[in-house]
Amino acid sequence: MLEKIWLSSPHMGGNEIKYIHEAFAKNWVAPLGPNVNGFEEDLQDYLDSDVYVAALSSGTAALHLALIQCAVGYGDEVICQSMTFSASANPIAYQGATPIFVDSELETWNMCPVSLRLAIEDRLVNGKKPKAIIVVHLYGMPAKMDQILAVADAYDIPVIEDAAEALGSTYKGKACGTFGRFGVLSFNGNKIITTSGGGALVCVNQGDKENTVFLSTQARDQAAHYEHSNIGYNYRMSNICAGIGRGQMEVLNDRVVARRAMSTFYQDLFKDVKGVSVLKEPSTDYFSNHWLSAIVIDPIIAGFTREDLRLALLEDNIESRPLWKPMHLQPVFAGSPYYGGSISESLFNNGLCLPSGSNLSDDDRGRIKRTISNMLAVTVR
Ligand SMILES: *Cc1c(COP(=O)(O)O)cnc(C)c1O
Repeated sequence: MLEKIWLSSPHMGGNEIKYIHEAFAKNWVAPLGPNVNGFEEDLQDYLDSDVYVAALSSGTAALHLALIQCAVGYGDEVICQSMTFSASANPIAYQGATPIFVDSELETWNMCPVSLRLAIEDRLVNGKKPKAIIVVHLYGMPAKMDQILAVADAYDIPVIEDAAEALGSTYKGKACGTFGRFGVLSFNGNKIITTSGGGALVCVNQGDKENTVFLSTQARDQAAHYEHSNIGYNYRMSNICAGIGRGQMEVLNDRVVARRAMSTFYQDLFKDVKGVSVLKEPSTDYFSNHWLSAIVIDPIIAGFTREDLRLALLEDNIESRPLWKPMHLQPVFAGSPYYGGSISESLFNNGLCLPSGSNLSDDDRGRIKRTISNMLAVTVR
């Protein structure tokens, strides 16, 4: 059996272990320490010197603390992009609030600003004023931030950017994760850089960052004993994980280059294949880290379905995966309001993510190309 080619796997730079050794040498084996502070500074410098970053245990924890700080509580409504990973929406339910799902547009596959406006207007009449808007930069592709922020500002609703997949992406030259009231990053094992598991909340001021750290470390008040006037969480990042993060930050730019090269590889591969389109930046305003390369197949024109291709790849031990199944179609969120048409549903039906790791070799690319070319050759078109 040929070795498995993964969709996206961890890719160490080499210096991660140095930071972990330092933590052991100084006995900083705890959810605080020099690596946590250093990793936060690295992220701040990378994103923009005007933001304040709190390192946390996961991207999901970061979303949860963003919602809490937007005062989302029981019975509230929060607008969320439907086409995303469930972790974008679950923290809404943690707070006892209701997610209001919104469809995508076809250019970036992210939240459609037109459907967003319709959703808000309808909620104002038939529901409640939404407390926050969660917009996602799927697969690293920046959402249409100008239009989305214009709608959000018109109704004075805070935006939480789920940039879990978009570290290294920019919109009009500005880093994804720095547009909203809060930005969310993830360093899970499959993301563009990893801390094995981890996340961060990007804040616009020092006060928000301090409050995030306070909430993530059990909300302990100033006192010699343990005094609490708020509900707290155990969401801070470990100093060991942060050590991995510091090593990964040294190679982030290389990882972006390599992931973008994978997108170019697929754009070339499918250039002359009718009925297949690769997710591409709509204009020079968009710079994607291309965390995952993804395609949509029109089965009638192409003569094959995304399942045909997925199974052909699987046969050769190459992993691929359907696009995120929209949240409004998930059993767990049945009954949540939804605004839009069938764009996200049709992307899900016809879309496939292809191996996109920064650590794929020329041999791996050769195998992927052979398998896909063989399948195309036998397809009657
Ligand atoms: C990975 C991911 C998350 C969650 O991040 P974790 O660190 O795994 O908790 C949230 N949203 C999106 C879009 C993601 O891809």
